[in-house]
Amino acid sequence: MAIRTVETLSAGRWIGSAQWIEVGNPADVRTPVARVPALTAAETTEVYAAAAAAAPGWRRTSPFRRADIFRAAAGLLRERLPEIAADVVAENGKTTPEARGEVAKAADFLDYYAGLAREPYGSLLHDARPDTVTHVQREPLGVVLAITPWNDPLLTPARKLAPALMSGNTVVLKPASETPLSALHFARALHDAGAPSGVINVVTGRVSEIGDALLGDERIAAVTFTGSNEVGEQLRATLAHRNVRFQGELGGKNATVVLADADLGAAATSIVAAGFAQAGERCTATSRVIVDRAVHDDVVKLVTEQLGLLRLGDGREDATTMGPLVSAGHRDSVLEHLRTARDQGATVVTGGGAPGGALGNGCFVEPTVLTDVTPDMDIWRQEVFGPVVAVCAVNGLDEAIAAVNDSDFGLAAAVFTSDLTATYRFMDEVDCGQIAVNTTTSGWDVHHPFGGFRDSGSAFKEQGTEALHFYTRVKTVAVHLIPRHG
Ligand code: NAP
Repeated sequence: MAIRTVETLSAGRWIGSAQWIEVGNPADVRTPVARVPALTAAETTEVYAAAAAAAPGWRRTSPFRRADIFRAAAGLLRERLPEIAADVVAENGKTTPEARGEVAKAADFLDYYAGLAREPYGSLLHDARPDTVTHVQREPLGVVLAITPWNDPLLTPARKLAPALMSGNTVVLKPASETPLSALHFARALHDAGAPSGVINVVTGRVSEIGDALLGDERIAAVTFTGSNEVGEQLRATLAHRNVRFQGELGGKNATVVLADADLGAAATSIVAAGFAQAGERCTATSRVIVDRAVHDDVVKLVTEQLGLLRLGDGREDATTMGPLVSAGHRDSVLEHLRTARDQGATVVTGGGAPGGALGNGCFVEPTVLTDVTPDMDIWRQEVFGPVVAVCAVNGLDEAIAAVNDSDFGLAAAVFTSDLTATYRFMDEVDCGQIAVNTTTSGWDVHHPFGGFRDSGSAFKEQGTEALHFYTRVKTVAVHLIPRHG
């Protein structure tokens, strides 16, 4: 059977290429989902030419017109939800309810930033000079390159493109090669809603072939990247050298702390939701559980019982509550983390491997809980990005806070407690960008500023009005009013 072909968007046209990238199906690696163009370096350079040519016109386009396009695109995403969610499931592996939620939230991003067209912008300042008025205005940067990973293949482009475009920038989007279809749905909605030619462009292609053209183009004003620390560090170094603005949303090793006075049932439910939704492939997933020794066994038992209720399977099936990982390569890397954890002395309480039988052709890993984990183990320090939580016992709040902060990462952390003082100390002393109290490390809304500290992030947050700081620059203007005579 011929494989489905999906073209990419460049300069307002849907284009193919001489080479193609096959998009795999993680639920059954024998049946690829589609193919997308593998653009060449020359075609990538043409994409930048289109984005640069569109930039002056889009900058002058009224924010109200941009908002109209956003609202129409949000409507199209909602109308097309079944079709788009099906592609998110097919290429990423998450469950259908998870994919439907992702489509809905992508539409929310467009609606939220459309609403900002009516908000105040800039500010007026006093000036000591007589008859002088000074103000600051925000203006777009120009062409923004957005590079996105495979774990939220629709949401991450939406999180970046909505504020970038609403601020008046044009965009080149480079989605992960495992999951380009979702990003192309997002581009199609904006295109069909009336986004002018060149305002949004998508580069599908192999970094090994187009890397230099993708990053080396002198028309790039800013790069927003979500992905691994390894690639993020590479990009940061390259771009700093050229004085190109960089935003990096990188890895995490998020902790949920359970203190002895916590509601243990609520804590266990939250650990399961935050650790195992999307098969743990979330930057905010809980991957470390730091639990007071007094309640350690109870928490482990409650979590393990709830994990027993999860049903692994193809995300398209109604009964499935946890899908496969995104690819065979990623599954193997998660299994390697588990092998090392066992070798270093961790105990597997549940899970620990890949299921066989009917799931043997997919990229599945069993939901896994590891205990007897100590801070010197790799499983405590390295990002796994799969359905695995490592549990470490501590004595009280001081040790818990120290354990949370004993990490290179600083994205999200949660505490379960009924003690107000413990809550406030946790909020103040934990070195993470997102703090949750008696709720999950994941699940931040479109208007909540989002981003990690330390190795998890960069100076600029995403989401909400905070995102606009990255996508705009500030110009200060002093106007001397010529005094009227007579
Ligand atoms: P990745 O390997 O770093 O890839 C991310 C993107 O970068 C992909 O589009 C990839 O393209 C591209 N890329 C790879 N090498 C590149 C290079 N040399 N130059 C330019 N682009 C390059 O990350 P991933 O495996 O897709 O995603 C998982 C990671 O994302 C995890 O570490 C996770 O924590 C992180 N993440 C962080 C957040 C957050 O908000 N903090 C959110 C979600 C995910 P190809 O696919 O074509 O290689």
